[in-house]
Amino acid sequence: MAQATTYTDTQLFIDGKWRDAADGKTLAVVNPATGREIGRVAHASRADLEQAVEAAQRGFATWNGMTAAKRSEIMRKAAGLMRERAGEIAPLMTQENGKPLAEAKGETLAAADIIEWFAEEGFRVYGRIVPSRGSLAQRQMVLKDPVGPVAAFTPWNFPINQVVRKLAPALAAGCSVVVKAPEETPAAPAALIRAFQDAGLPPGVLGLVYGDPAEISGFLIPHPAIRKITFTGSTAVGKQLAGLAGQHMKRVTMELGGHAPVIVCEDADVALAVKSAGGAKFRNAGQVCISPTRFLVHESVRAEFAAELAKWAKGLRVADGLAEGTQMGPLANPRRLAAMSGFLDDAVQRGAQVLAGGKRIGEVGNFWEPTVLADVPLDARIFNDEPFGPVAAIRSFNTLDEAIAEANRLSYGLAGYAFTSSLKNADLIARKVEVGMLFVNMPAVPTAEMPFGGIKDSGFGSEGGPEAVEAYLNTRAVSVMNV
Ligand code: NAD
Repeated sequence: MAQATTYTDTQLFIDGKWRDAADGKTLAVVNPATGREIGRVAHASRADLEQAVEAAQRGFATWNGMTAAKRSEIMRKAAGLMRERAGEIAPLMTQENGKPLAEAKGETLAAADIIEWFAEEGFRVYGRIVPSRGSLAQRQMVLKDPVGPVAAFTPWNFPINQVVRKLAPALAAGCSVVVKAPEETPAAPAALIRAFQDAGLPPGVLGLVYGDPAEISGFLIPHPAIRKITFTGSTAVGKQLAGLAGQHMKRVTMELGGHAPVIVCEDADVALAVKSAGGAKFRNAGQVCISPTRFLVHESVRAEFAAELAKWAKGLRVADGLAEGTQMGPLANPRRLAAMSGFLDDAVQRGAQVLAGGKRIGEVGNFWEPTVLADVPLDARIFNDEPFGPVAAIRSFNTLDEAIAEANRLSYGLAGYAFTSSLKNADLIARKVEVGMLFVNMPAVPTAEMPFGGIKDSGFGSEGGPEAVEAYLNTRAVSVMNV
């Protein structure tokens, strides 16, 4: 039984105040475990968006006018509040997104770590002095300035993490941010913004809006006051938004889809591969951009690996994320259920074997069985399009060159995984596999200090490490002749 808990409606946050949309419009928020409406979220009108941008312009002047030390103090206070409130925030996230309570709590606590790391990094926004070629009287300076008000678009799979990975480096750089957070999971990101408000963030530095995604991006991206666009979501939408940003000469960071290859070599520790990749595959019901997806397993260990992964999948407890002991919750929305059916029908029709799962669970909520497919043909849709769900697809290989070629075949290049006890194999994979993030003999452990982002069609820019702050800075060259 899921524990009884409350859920709150979500308003817009504009100019330091929570309020309804100007025309009072709202959208329903539905619990994916029950299919029932649990609350409402305000739907911004054009008038609200205008006000959010005006406030962000004023907020930028205020925030950029403060010292890095003061900004850091407020950010660290917000991090502390997230930590204190994690027990209240996690059930909100679980009810709107479906993920198990422990994952929701972990995400909230991780947000605190990320904010703290960037609060420190904000001290290290340095310029440089460059010696002049011509004269000692000439002083040449490289200055780093915040780019200006930012528009951030974030998806529903990690309602807090996706926002914090944009907002923390942007704030550290001295930018203000208007966040368009996901309408399907609005309460958790609102709790994050509230932590900043309660930590003393001046009005206008952060704004939060919900509504029609295309209408909001169509308004914010071309708006002359907005100087930087950051988006996380599908490659298809990312390409549209990057195109619009290009027309208006706006800087962009794009964190898009992935189709992570997992290369399991003949010398791999198979138990470690199953534990690491199996755990990662079904986390957040596979709705993770770095989720392991294409399992490329050496022919000599294929049968053992496939059988063990199927056993792992069958052993998972799938239930409402609020229920004690749940390891995998429902998919976040009915679109994903329809997508899983499509991937499964196509793969089976093309000859794939279903070793575990393969169908919807029950009639209530968006529950899907943890699924393992073997002998998946290369032309199956699941081996080409991002499944974004709890389905692992296995194929065998004979030579490492073959596996690397398959890993690089798709236009995606976000995360990749490999399991091998050979230094030579690990080195070859590190050099040849075209991904932004590679994890060898381990699951992904994204931290604030490591770059996070993709290459190829998975986007560009990074949401971790010093590169994440750099993405919100302008570089200016100033030369002064001391006459
Ligand atoms: P979608 O492509 O319709 O939307 C993806 C995200 O983009 C959502 O948050 C949505 O609100 C936003 N969006 C859509 N159109 C937009 C627009 N014109 N302007 C601004 N934002 C816009 O798909 P979906 O059904 O919500 O999600 C399914 C697919 O999206 C998945 O298959 C996956 O490829 C991708 N996705 C990726 C991530 C990620 O972490 N990279 C997260 C969520 C979804």
